[in-house]
Amino acid sequence: MDKQEIAVFWFRRDLRVADNHGLFQALKSGKPVLPIFIFDSNILNNLEQEDSRVSFILHEVQKLHAFFEEQGSTLWIYHGKPVEAFKRLMKEYAVAEVFTNQDYEPYARERDKAVFQLLETDGIRLRAFKDQVIFHKNDILKADGTPYTVFTPYSKKWLSNLTEKHCQAFRSEELLGNLLQTRPLKAYHHSDLGFKHGPYEVPPMTIDSALLEAYADNRDFPAVGGTSRLGVHLRFGTLSIRQLTALALKHSSTFLNELIWRNFYMDILWHFPHVADSCFKPAYNFIAWQNSEKDFARWCEGTTGYPLVDAGMRELKATGYMHNRVRMVTASFLCKHLLIDWHWGEAWFAEKLLDFELASNNGGWQWAAGCGCDAAPYFRVFNPALQQQKFDPDFAYIKKWVPEFGSSAYPPPIVDHKKARERAISVYKAALDER
Ligand code: FAD
Repeated sequence: MDKQEIAVFWFRRDLRVADNHGLFQALKSGKPVLPIFIFDSNILNNLEQEDSRVSFILHEVQKLHAFFEEQGSTLWIYHGKPVEAFKRLMKEYAVAEVFTNQDYEPYARERDKAVFQLLETDGIRLRAFKDQVIFHKNDILKADGTPYTVFTPYSKKWLSNLTEKHCQAFRSEELLGNLLQTRPLKAYHHSDLGFKHGPYEVPPMTIDSALLEAYADNRDFPAVGGTSRLGVHLRFGTLSIRQLTALALKHSSTFLNELIWRNFYMDILWHFPHVADSCFKPAYNFIAWQNSEKDFARWCEGTTGYPLVDAGMRELKATGYMHNRVRMVTASFLCKHLLIDWHWGEAWFAEKLLDFELASNNGGWQWAAGCGCDAAPYFRVFNPALQQQKFDPDFAYIKKWVPEFGSSAYPPPIVDHKKARERAISVYKAALDER
């Protein structure tokens, strides 16, 4: 007997049912939809065994699995390489079309190309929709048709292009009657993946309008808790960017501006994928970094003798989170004060941050190192003491994370600020003068 033709929806970094653009399109396709998820061994094999992001993904995938089962359907799950997953899927089902949401990272683009080519040999279409950003690809371009590389004009164009339609939800949750009705398939647990439960707790997905109203006043003070902590939910798509943008429009233009930064870095990564491996401005690839492993270890551990830097690094290690203001200070300190290649810091953040996002992490690091698009000029070096006076004036954040601060147990500064600043400026200048 001929197998029933189905459409497939491939979940990736969009782990929700409601307002999911690709899922919506799949459910509208006229074919019964089988949702799938792939634990990609190309990614998992590069992670520590106790990674809280894997635990979070697993938790969300289990929730989806249970949800689809309640609908009389299932979630087809595979652990391995995506191309192999699709080979298997095509043996088991008569796949007519595959729907998914667009992913902009270089690895994801390669992965999708390989899957696209495989599907194409069987005449199956892979269709990817815009879901994790409001604008993508060539939506926001300069008048001459080239991408923006400076944030302020980009954000102006972004705002002028925005209409109500961009924030409208795709009501995927209303079309669940179009799911493939089938027997339940296997759910996955940590042991199936060779992982253990990670140590960090994921902040709840609560959107507090009072927090958004006070965001502009509070967002820069790490002791206050005035930011949303929604990064991880945007990263894995448990929250819709359309829903959040609509709320930002209502409650806080400053918060909206941060969402535009996120979109900006995603667009930079799409148009200039070389940033994933090297400086946006090529001359900065020639900086004569000192790269002291000893200094790097002290930075990672939070024992530099600069209390705001140390507090941030300890918060990161203890919780998988660091406040944005402190991310800027610690990143600048590594590149400028310690003259350590920003890639080292980028990799440390990538390993630790629950909300790790290639585009924003890379953009933040290149900004701090001065080598990115629209970065601070290289001769502007953050003064960690002044940053503390402005943003943690009562030492509340510092005391929380560095309890021995002020006692003889606290180490003396790893470098002298004035000398380190002068050294950074001369090393940067030498690299740039030679080009
Ligand atoms: P909120 O202040 O509540 O902001 C809401 C959302 O807006 C964030 O969740 C995030 O999605 C977005 N956003 C806010 N600020 C920025 C920004 N400057 N750039 C891009 N998006 C922003 N953000 C990440 O999502 N992942 C990262 O890996 C990451 N690495 C960073 C590394 C460095 C060196 C720097 C300086 C910044 C980095 N950021 C990163 C940006 C920012 O620090 C975090 O998004 C923010 O601290 C997350 O906390 P929150 O959710 O409470 O943010």
